[in-house]
Amino acid sequence: MLRSHYSNEVSKKDYGKKIRIAGWIEDIRNLGGIAFIILRDRAGRMQITAIKKQNPELFKEIVSLTRESVISAYGICQQNSKVMNGWELLLEEMEVLAKAETPLPMGVIDKVNVDFDTRLDNRIIDLRRDEVKAIFMIRHSFIHYASDFLRKKGFVEVHTPKISASSSEGGTEVFKIDYFGRDAFLVQSPQLYKQMLMASGLDRVYEIAWYFRAEEHDTSRHLNESTAIDIEMAFIESEEDVMKVAEELTDYAIQKILDENSEELDALHVEVDLPSLPYPRISYDEVVEILQKEIDFKWGDDLGTDEENLLAKHLDYELYFIKDFPLEAKPFYAMPSGKYARAFDLEYKGMEIASGAQRIHDYSLLVQRMNELGMKTENFEDYLKAFRYGMPPHGGFGYGIERFLMRFLNLKNIRECILFPRDRKRLRP
Ligand code: ATP
Ligand code: MG
Repeated sequence: MLRSHYSNEVSKKDYGKKIRIAGWIEDIRNLGGIAFIILRDRAGRMQITAIKKQNPELFKEIVSLTRESVISAYGICQQNSKVMNGWELLLEEMEVLAKAETPLPMGVIDKVNVDFDTRLDNRIIDLRRDEVKAIFMIRHSFIHYASDFLRKKGFVEVHTPKISASSSEGGTEVFKIDYFGRDAFLVQSPQLYKQMLMASGLDRVYEIAWYFRAEEHDTSRHLNESTAIDIEMAFIESEEDVMKVAEELTDYAIQKILDENSEELDALHVEVDLPSLPYPRISYDEVVEILQKEIDFKWGDDLGTDEENLLAKHLDYELYFIKDFPLEAKPFYAMPSGKYARAFDLEYKGMEIASGAQRIHDYSLLVQRMNELGMKTENFEDYLKAFRYGMPPHGGFGYGIERFLMRFLNLKNIRECILFPRDRKRLRP
């Protein structure tokens, strides 16, 4: 291997021994007879010290390297309390693995502000910065611990099609593609498939899913390609069973991230108070009452960004559910209860991060609801078929991964939370 230790793997027992480290040259300070090179790897930074008179050729080679060039360096690991980490590598041999061109399209350690578009255009270099890498290390943890939680609760991981003959939810915000001369669509969510699976006997499924939505708007909280944790569970008594999974998953993942990612949270200057369970539940009717004190808002109106923000200002908590929405505000598959839907949104600091519901499991009620909404049932033949041969009561949610991270890490733009964002303008890199 080109590396024997990551920067954080070197310990006292390695002092005096030969080790091999590898990474990107972040900085070079050449003092004439001695040079200090800061090398960066995934775990952090370390110092390489090169002494001219020990090996003039090697000294010349390393001090002439450009910033961000990649090397593997070999030498004695020497204790030095004045150096970061308490040790340095006294250079004996070096392999230059890749030279970086100059100038760099953006700096890695420079404090100058780079605009967001330049950062995204050069995402690979952007990711070399601690505070950017930290987002994706925390994202990694979030998905890992959410899956861990769901598996412990008996959920089975599934993967459903992303190309489909019908649009997922009957909406218009779909991407149409050419499928060998036929029209097909990128799915907006796994909604229809995960519901169909409830008739399979798998009982509890989850998917780390891609959503493709041709959203008209260009906002700081919408992507055209986003990821979510989708779950569906059968034999529920009500939407409360689903909400319990959503809040416990959130609580578990936050606790684990606090335990395991303190370095990354520090890099992002994030301090988190763990909210206690259960998260408060507010009914849509209560929301209307609160909003009507300040703005013109009618029962039945949708809660947009402004309304969600206004509501958050009136509440003393960060994570809460809004439930019992007007039936019209929720999709056709939500279980009706009079003029309400047995549906909920999980809100985090004034933004929806998840939506869920108990679903309709009765075939004739489902067809009736679709007809009421003027939907063409013939476009949903396969979906509806699953309801005709034994479909248990069920419910689930879709939980936006980027939305969660954006709120958890107090980031202003959802594009920060996905490696290569797709929005109305951006199709590259
Ligand atoms: P919103 O009203 O905030 O646009 P939605 O109600 O249309 O969201 P749902 O269909 O309920 O979204 O999707 C479930 C979850 O997926 C949302 O709560 C959100 O966290 C996430 N999500 C949905 N659309 C997007 C998107 N375009 N970009 C990023 N995340 C999204
Ligand atoms: Mg929603």
